[in-house]
Amino acid sequence: MTRAELSYGLAAAAANVLGALAVTSRATRSLKALDATLSFAAGFMISVSLVDLFPDAIVAAGRWAPVMTLGSYVLVHLTQHTIGRHFHFGEETHAVSEVVSLSALVGLLMHTFVDGVAVASGLRVSAGLGALVFVAVLLHKFPEGLAISSLFLAAGSTRAKALAAAAALGATTMAGLLLTDHLEFLQTYGLAISAGVTLYVGASNLVPEFQDRSGLRIPLSFVAGCGLYFVARSMASV
Ligand SMILES: [Zn+2]
Ligand SMILES: [Zn+2]
Repeated sequence: MTRAELSYGLAAAAANVLGALAVTSRATRSLKALDATLSFAAGFMISVSLVDLFPDAIVAAGRWAPVMTLGSYVLVHLTQHTIGRHFHFGEETHAVSEVVSLSALVGLLMHTFVDGVAVASGLRVSAGLGALVFVAVLLHKFPEGLAISSLFLAAGSTRAKALAAAAALGATTMAGLLLTDHLEFLQTYGLAISAGVTLYVGASNLVPEFQDRSGLRIPLSFVAGCGLYFVARSMASV
């Protein structure tokens, strides 16, 4: 594992746990700006997926890359509509059963594993792309940790268990980074898989959260996420 992989992985995992700490310690003031951040993250994630990960995936894996991207999208869709049926980014506001919280965790683990694969795959292309993917991952890690731990609390779990659930998301992110270093399959198709999963999280997890929100703050945050992606991209000389 390279130093960049280690520091990106640890920062991403730490953001998962910080998100959990924000709910377990009831620091609700910090949650106010969350929806605009998530909308911004959605724009940034969809941009990195379409503008860089997908084209680079085709360079790395040829004509099978688009099939792998679609396949990954479908797989996340299926896991989130079968195993983890109840999950939404942001704080859980109603009571749920323990089965719901555990299955949401299982459903999310695949996505967080690919968060790690995406960062490692980006780094394999260039330091700049690795940094951009890291930002895309980091932007949604805090809400990801917050969401899973608040879901656990809503299911009646202890604060320790709620924190452990977020830590598990961080650990699978690290596992994704580590395994990309060791598995040839991920070295070939990691970019394609990351493109599909990142697109799913941005377009199908995050965007629908705000579909019914009125006002301009949410759509403008989304557009800002797309626009600033290009600013970040030129700064990272990708
Ligand atoms: Zn809910
Ligand atoms: Zn994630």
